[in-house]
Amino acid sequence: MKILIVIGDGMADRSADELGGKTPLQYAKMEFVNSVVKDSMVGLMDPIAPGIRPGSDTSHLSILGYDPFEVYTGRGPFEAAGLGMELKPGDIAFRCNFATADDKLIVKDRRAGRIKEGTQELVKEINGMEIEGVKFFVKPGVEHRAALVMRGGNLSPYVSDADPHKVGEKVKEVKPLRKDAEFTAKVLNEFLKRAREILSEHPINKERISRGLPPANILLPRGAGVVPELKSVEERYGIKAASVVGIPLVKGICRLAGMYCADLPTATGSYDTDYEGKIKKAVELLKNGYDLVLVNYKAPDLAGHDGDAEKKVWVLENIDRGLRHIEGEDILFIFTADHTTPCNFKDHTGDPVPILIHGEGLRKEGVEKFDEISVIKGSMRIRGRDIMNLALNYAGYAEMFGA
Ligand code: ZN
Ligand code: ZN
Repeated sequence: MKILIVIGDGMADRSADELGGKTPLQYAKMEFVNSVVKDSMVGLMDPIAPGIRPGSDTSHLSILGYDPFEVYTGRGPFEAAGLGMELKPGDIAFRCNFATADDKLIVKDRRAGRIKEGTQELVKEINGMEIEGVKFFVKPGVEHRAALVMRGGNLSPYVSDADPHKVGEKVKEVKPLRKDAEFTAKVLNEFLKRAREILSEHPINKERISRGLPPANILLPRGAGVVPELKSVEERYGIKAASVVGIPLVKGICRLAGMYCADLPTATGSYDTDYEGKIKKAVELLKNGYDLVLVNYKAPDLAGHDGDAEKKVWVLENIDRGLRHIEGEDILFIFTADHTTPCNFKDHTGDPVPILIHGEGLRKEGVEKFDEISVIKGSMRIRGRDIMNLALNYAGYAEMFGA
């Protein structure tokens, strides 16, 4: 059997007053999911460990079988990989904003007016700069977003952010957080200074000023991390894996795990994503040489952060509509969340999330509904890092341990 893992990002929730005490999953009309749940194995999963509040990055690492405590130092490398940057183990990577600062380095706009065009031109002048044997690479993303990579020399990810995270505050000097990070902080500060000088004088910014737009005259890196050496999913499990993901962070994790990342322009990573197209694409990949496909829907997490339980219900019903496209396919279907994002908390919590595993010939546990409460009647109580082993076992790929 081929394996489809669908992650409703932040899909799990807590009981919400505005839904009469139900969770969004309890409240939503999940027609497809609830039509297969009786014939599935269900239960609860701690994405990392009980009570640990997962980020989307650390949780997806865990779900793909990695130990985030071992391989994760910050989100920078995954953002950079998500933008398609070529990375090497040991590189230090940051997520970055193009921002606007005045002569006294006071941040006037953290997003340079959500700059729409010109960032490709702007980075040309600074990309590839070398300082004391360290090379710097910058790649723009959507609008003001970018990633910065440092390569070469004895580098450390333990440096602070230059981003003050607030308008009206002074750009921060990057500080070493450990003794062995002094060199990294020093060359990074030097790079940021030179980049600032070049960007301030750049014709694109002069033109922006003449049009009354805030210039993108400074780079604000944050979220430093070292690029880990990850054994690919194929090397570890002997299967070919792909993903259908909208957001760069999770895309970057899949890329660093050696998975093929499908290019689906309508997968926006937002509320308006292509709910059906993502599953259609996944099924197509499974029919064309891939053994496992991971799909991530970001929208439930956005609704959780927005504190909008009704919107979350709407998103879940759309995901359910997308999932209908696996009907009749011989697929091992795993449906779960990477963490809980309760609408009444507006951020991730360490609660366990519901999980469902459905496939031909497996145990049918007879649980009536798929939600945080109903699945307690099921058999599973697992951690995220168990998913790959369970998937390989139920899909028939697992090798026997012993004789
Ligand atoms: Zn997430
Ligand atoms: Zn989130």
